[in-house]
Amino acid sequence: MSTGASTATPSNPTEALINDLMAQQWVTDLAALLSERQATSIEMVEQLRSLDASNHVFWPFHAPPFPPVITDAHGCRITDADGNSYLDSYLGFGTQALHGHNPKPVVEFVREQLGTGPGNGYFHPITLRFVKLLHELVPHCEKFALLNSGTDATHAAIRLARAHTGRRRVAKFEGALHGPHDLGSHNMAFWYHGYPTNPFPPSDENGIRPTSAIAGVPAADARDLLVLPHDRDEALALIERHGSELACVIAEPCSSSFPFEDVAIPLVRDTAHACQQLGVPFVLDEVLTGFRCGLGGAAERYGIPADLYCYGKAISGLGIALSALGGRAELLDQMQTSGLSLTDIGSKSFVQTTHGGNFLAVCAAYATLRELHEQRDRYYDETRAKIASVREKLAAARATHDIPLRLVGFGDFVGSFIFAEHESYEHYRDFVSAVNPVALFLMTLMLRARGIFMLSAPMLFTGGAHSQADLDELVAAVIDSAVELKSHGVPLVPAEMVA
Ligand code: PLP
Repeated sequence: MSTGASTATPSNPTEALINDLMAQQWVTDLAALLSERQATSIEMVEQLRSLDASNHVFWPFHAPPFPPVITDAHGCRITDADGNSYLDSYLGFGTQALHGHNPKPVVEFVREQLGTGPGNGYFHPITLRFVKLLHELVPHCEKFALLNSGTDATHAAIRLARAHTGRRRVAKFEGALHGPHDLGSHNMAFWYHGYPTNPFPPSDENGIRPTSAIAGVPAADARDLLVLPHDRDEALALIERHGSELACVIAEPCSSSFPFEDVAIPLVRDTAHACQQLGVPFVLDEVLTGFRCGLGGAAERYGIPADLYCYGKAISGLGIALSALGGRAELLDQMQTSGLSLTDIGSKSFVQTTHGGNFLAVCAAYATLRELHEQRDRYYDETRAKIASVREKLAAARATHDIPLRLVGFGDFVGSFIFAEHESYEHYRDFVSAVNPVALFLMTLMLRARGIFMLSAPMLFTGGAHSQADLDELVAAVIDSAVELKSHGVPLVPAEMVA
């Protein structure tokens, strides 16, 4: 299997750099090593490719070459079909970050219920226990809707806000991720937007021009979408100017594409307050942050008031799909029958799906959050201490090896190991222009050879899944890979490419 480097004439500088690097002997050797070690996986993936386009191993923009086929997963350790064992820092895109793969209390609870309940489409007593627990954890939500994915939750939030206000236009921040529905697929995180291949769009009094780099997405017009810059004053001015047209403003507390809480959190909090004053519903997308940066998520930890809150990823258990939309009853009531279903026609909204809130997903999610609730402060104290130790080790490595290696993320929480010259960036576009995705791509493969599994850019989903010793092992491998990258003369940041 090849690393994916093209032999055709490169059409842009990134492609040219990738082709140049991929032809280097050390990269060819690395590819040969992984091909050999993962021979069984590679053969199975080739068979899968002709029948299943959807698997994460084929995910455009993310999937690294040489995907391992995983046959066993416990805690943060996964084993592939060739018998290689990896420390997993991907953890099912964060869904298993809280307790790792197959945590005993969750497996046991689900096993007890398996074969007893109604599958999907019925109300079971565990559903009531689950929503009561949710209400205890996030009391700022008056009511919930159980759905399947983070995308379902943000899509439902937008629809309910539109139904509630009778307005059409939705505002989102440039670079924010809210899932792949049509509006969410505009001006997404830079790795989907395609920067630097695809330059940033211009802006005017209608905000940043709505742009999608996702094939198959029709460009939204200004009546549908207002794309906000990260500049606080400009963003607030746009919201104020267009407030009377806005069905809602949707924002991540701190997005994975601009993970600097010192800048992002005040902006989002100010946006939420501006929305309150203007009477524009504010949607906080907690798909990444929910239950991970505190029991009450970013809303509680950072004091961000919203009308609707979207939960996904860590809310689920054992990777069984479940998400939730929570918030003001008045908005959630748009999707609930008034009592006599025939009279709903023409006056109610519709976001429900066949499998939403299915029995096993609810059981797994209930056991997962119950476990977190039992550990509560201890869980967050320990996670924060572990992340602080990672940051200390990286600071020491920066000083010793003169490499701009950092863990960016929000406080104690999710992040990505990147090369960046500064600790924080004030503007989204400045940060994006300061990242060299090619160095991160190579590091992903170098880490694989060192027994660490990550998806594409070396992202770190962590929590109770990793012990201190696990994180020590991970950080040592990250530092070692970064030092090796530098020794090969790979430009770690774009500034080095120019030099
Ligand atoms: N919102 C945010 C902040 C996300 O990070 C994601 C996915 O990564 C989504 C929404 C979409 O969630 P899902 O992949 O479960 O549909």
